[in-house]
Amino acid sequence: MPQVSLRNIYKVYPNAKNSAPAVCDFNLEINDGEFVVLVGPSGCGKSTTLRMIAGLESITTGEIYIDGKLINNLPPKDRDIAMVFQNYALYPNLSNFENMAFGLRLRKVEKYKINELVKVKARELEIENLLDRQPKDVSGGQRQRVALGRAIVRQPKVFLMDEPLSNLDARMRVQTRIEIMKLHNDLNATTVYVTHDQIEAMTMGHRIVVMHGGLIQQVATPEDLYNKPANKFIGSFIGSPPMNFVFGRLLSGDDGRIFFSNSTMYIPFPEKRITKGIDKYIGTDVVGGIRPEYLSLRQGEERNEDEFFAKVDVTELVGADRYVYLDINQSNRESLVARVPAKDKFSPGLRVIGQADMDNFHIFDRNTEQRIY
Ligand code: ADP
Repeated sequence: MPQVSLRNIYKVYPNAKNSAPAVCDFNLEINDGEFVVLVGPSGCGKSTTLRMIAGLESITTGEIYIDGKLINNLPPKDRDIAMVFQNYALYPNLSNFENMAFGLRLRKVEKYKINELVKVKARELEIENLLDRQPKDVSGGQRQRVALGRAIVRQPKVFLMDEPLSNLDARMRVQTRIEIMKLHNDLNATTVYVTHDQIEAMTMGHRIVVMHGGLIQQVATPEDLYNKPANKFIGSFIGSPPMNFVFGRLLSGDDGRIFFSNSTMYIPFPEKRITKGIDKYIGTDVVGGIRPEYLSLRQGEERNEDEFFAKVDVTELVGADRYVYLDINQSNRESLVARVPAKDKFSPGLRVIGQADMDNFHIFDRNTEQRIY
């Protein structure tokens, strides 16, 4: 049995324009011990979904179950969940110890047990020597550990985290991200984590739910999200730089091969990739998609059948990689970015020959933007 089930969840805020739902037909089953990340651009409905699980926001229609029990009308304190927020939500006048102990005191846990639990968890989080101080007297990262500590001492069934790292600086964010994953490995508690940051989602989630405009776009492992994006939106939202998109048409050659074609390219797909269902797209306009690391570049005069000419616009050195921005068709300003080793220097203005790894070349429907191939 899944630990958390969300079934046909809709949320319409009473003051919403045109009664547009903030969350639309959200369905998800979350397993015991799973770390699920909700990710998407600002305003896509992530926090609303999390807050409905927490009981901080009413559900317009649909059902939420925890351990098979319908919780729609259960007050937050009876849901056996703990929530960690972006702004820590600690009591400023209480010590860090009292903040961590707060939920336990409310539940009338015995004093000696509270002492022990708080100390053990504070030790694990390496904030043991900060317990006498107030939240304002510790750093942002330490404050977020106190907030995490407050959540874990309660040993809830489900952890809900709403952008817990976004107030931290870049270095602290990475460190606390690792800390949260270690905690999760130790506690193995079901976690629903909200972020707008695709890197956070990709590094932390067992499964990732990508949302856009209140709708789930795809639920998948990080690998599948990256390699098998359901649609163009996912291709561009996940990955940095995002997936390249090129307009073109699918054509079939005399020899039965299928080609992606436009004014610069006429590239065959490897035979092993030709699958049923692609036939109906032959002769139609489509969008090709390829990630920057699947484009390779070389210098030369003669191009092979599966290559194309391009002009280097700009290059960016990013540590071990170099991003090479390419102009492939000046008339409609289509451009591509290739990710090549930093040692491969291509100066702006240079004419180069590009090759796309057609095993990793995707085709999207021009109208629906769904991936078809
Ligand atoms: P996210 O967490 O993905 O940034 P939210 O869940 O906060 O998105 O918001 C989803 C949509 O609902 C947005 O269009 C937002 O403006 C709207 N919204 C959020 N909270 C309220 C509210 N209390 N009243 C009215 N509209 C809201």
